[in-house]
Amino acid sequence: MSLLESLNPEQLAAVTLPRESALILAGAGSGKTKVLTARIAWLIQTGQVGPNGVLAVTFTNKASKEMLHRISTMLPINTRSMWVGTFHGLCNRMLRAHWKEAGLPQAFQILDMQDQLSAIKRMYKVLGIDAEKFPPKQLSYFIGSAKDQGLRPKDVEAHDEYHRMMVRLYEAYEAQCQREGVVDFAELLLRSFELLGANPALREHYQARFKYILVDEFQDTNNLQYNWLKRLAGPQGCIFAVGDDDQSIYAFRGARVANMVQFENDFAVQNRIKLEQNYRSVGNVLKAANVLIGHNKARLGKELWTEAGEGEAIRVYEATSDQDEAAFIIDRIKKLVLEEGFSRSDIAILYRSNAQSRVVEQALFNAGMPYRVYGGLRFFERAEIKHALAYLRLMDNADDDNSFSRVVNFPARGIGARSVEQLQDLATSQVTSLYRAIHRLEGRAQAGLKKFADLIERMRFETRGLSLADLVDKVINESGLVAHFQADKDGEDRVENLKELVNAAASFAIAEGYYQDAAATMVDEEKLITPLADFLSHASLEAGDNAAAAGQEAIQLMTAHAAKGLEFKCVFVTGLEEGLFPHENSIGNSVEGGDGTSVEAVEEERRLMYVAITRAREQLFLSHAQQRMLHGQIRYHLRSRFLDELPEDVLKWLTPKRAHIASQGWDALDSKVWGQSKTLNVGYSNKTTKRPYDIGTGVSHAKFGNGVVVAYEGEGDDQRIQINFGRQGMKWLMLSLAKLEKF
Ligand code: ATP
Ligand code: MG
Repeated sequence: MSLLESLNPEQLAAVTLPRESALILAGAGSGKTKVLTARIAWLIQTGQVGPNGVLAVTFTNKASKEMLHRISTMLPINTRSMWVGTFHGLCNRMLRAHWKEAGLPQAFQILDMQDQLSAIKRMYKVLGIDAEKFPPKQLSYFIGSAKDQGLRPKDVEAHDEYHRMMVRLYEAYEAQCQREGVVDFAELLLRSFELLGANPALREHYQARFKYILVDEFQDTNNLQYNWLKRLAGPQGCIFAVGDDDQSIYAFRGARVANMVQFENDFAVQNRIKLEQNYRSVGNVLKAANVLIGHNKARLGKELWTEAGEGEAIRVYEATSDQDEAAFIIDRIKKLVLEEGFSRSDIAILYRSNAQSRVVEQALFNAGMPYRVYGGLRFFERAEIKHALAYLRLMDNADDDNSFSRVVNFPARGIGARSVEQLQDLATSQVTSLYRAIHRLEGRAQAGLKKFADLIERMRFETRGLSLADLVDKVINESGLVAHFQADKDGEDRVENLKELVNAAASFAIAEGYYQDAAATMVDEEKLITPLADFLSHASLEAGDNAAAAGQEAIQLMTAHAAKGLEFKCVFVTGLEEGLFPHENSIGNSVEGGDGTSVEAVEEERRLMYVAITRAREQLFLSHAQQRMLHGQIRYHLRSRFLDELPEDVLKWLTPKRAHIASQGWDALDSKVWGQSKTLNVGYSNKTTKRPYDIGTGVSHAKFGNGVVVAYEGEGDDQRIQINFGRQGMKWLMLSLAKLEKF
């Protein structure tokens, strides 16, 4: 059987397991995703299950597309109706099919993070809540973590006034979402979970249907996702999970490695399968990865080996500045492309946080090198696209107040803030949506608003029977958006993007097989949804596949988080500086390990670094800069501890390696600085100590000269600051007495 041919014996055993739950725990590049895909194809090919009896969860939309593509090359089947997608995508699909039972309107809309914040701000206005005292972001985080634990407002325990307020706001937010027919990301999961819980018939239908459930990147599932899987699988359920505890990088969002152990108990997993041969990376890269991750204490433990040769040494570059770092990267890329024959799309540039990409992007742009940024500001998040989507959403669901507020006076049509406020008051008192309230409004304010409502109605009427692309085309023009941006001298790009949205709609329709009327309900298996509604969910859920930049051979830019599961021939990992990577929030802190123990937060950063390194197949470049501009400030950073943890014999320093870190090493430093464990400051907890200078900032002192801030300890008047004064050594100073200046 050809689809089994290229597998090694352990992989083959995993692919062809009988129907039982299994956990494959294996390191990066050992073929976990390959095994999972091959198993789906094998199960179908051997007739053990039909394409509709499989449900597979992937981590990104990109990964699910790739998986479906791979399956369709192995088997002559139509993969269109298969349930392969992200947790969010699959839950959305289920809720679309059973909207009534889930208590949602048929045309419910999905709020992304940005939409959610504007929904909260709108709610604050109505309720008269002080956004300074209860920052919308904190509430959003609070709601998200409550939902991720499966908690509704009534289930959340609040022990102080602040949290009691948060719970009340959570409740009000829920009511608002329900009224407007919108759901946020976490709600998709929770709603779908509750739907299965409350409807035994439905639950049993799905349990009988999905004979095989497969989950990739299992280490990053959170509690709710795990319970959703469990409920979906049912008592006879069979889950095939693959994961790598060393690549768990979403603990800050509630993902739990402990789920792996619980899974083995809950599903009576007989054997834990290990895959130890790495097929992705050359020896030097693999050795660096193995040694690095060996510094973590909280591990289930495994080692990878490869038959591949050592390959090139890992090149390390110390840049004087972020600009210099970018110049180095460009220079190397030119060599890779022109002299070594790599294609641009073989090359990835990874960074810890999105803010770092700007300098590199500028340099690539100046050098005339096409590139593509994943994550960042996604196509569907651009303002002009959001405006167009708001019109489309409003046509689909008139109660969507977020969309209403966004475009009621955009492009400007003389509707004043006062009129909208009046409308809001009326809608609040009559418990109805802004759109519906228009008809109940009287007086002068109504005229303009009525015209707006007529526009929406007219567009709805005139687009009947049109294809999805034609519908979008009509709406961007009729709404006045195109004319508005055409009149703006800097609006050219925006007009281009709007036209790109028409193309995106066209390719979406082709990919999904929608040839007919965009507004007609499709009866496709149990997928009851209009092409327009499907497109709108796609726009909310799409993870970074920038439609506008597709086509060209381009260098790939993304965060280390976004690179998970992917591979590239050449990888640059940039910004390897203390405070940046590892991130400053992690340094000297500890977090809940999931099973009640506490683990150093730096361990999660180290796993992220492990993910970054293991993306490389042939060549790996690591760089750091002595100074960089971040958030409008010049910051001076020490070289990342991760560079010092790598084995010297696989490295080649392109700039002289400087000895500038305490000889006892970072671990000793951490334990000295942070003797007692401290809790990571996340979300809504208030900081108790003040930090006048960020970790990594350059400061000067009259006696010791210039140094870099490394750590803080203590509180109030006793607070001390630790500074590395280079040759003068590492010093602890009383913060209240030390006369320091930023340099
Ligand atoms: P990650 O943990 O990064 O997600 P993974 O374990 O999912 O990695 P895959 O992406 O499935 O690993 O495989 C890594 C690479 O190794 C892929 O290019 C895959 O095609 C290749 N590969 C896996 N198994 C074999 C094999 N038996 N023979 C040849 N190539 C293989
Ligand atoms: Mg994988």
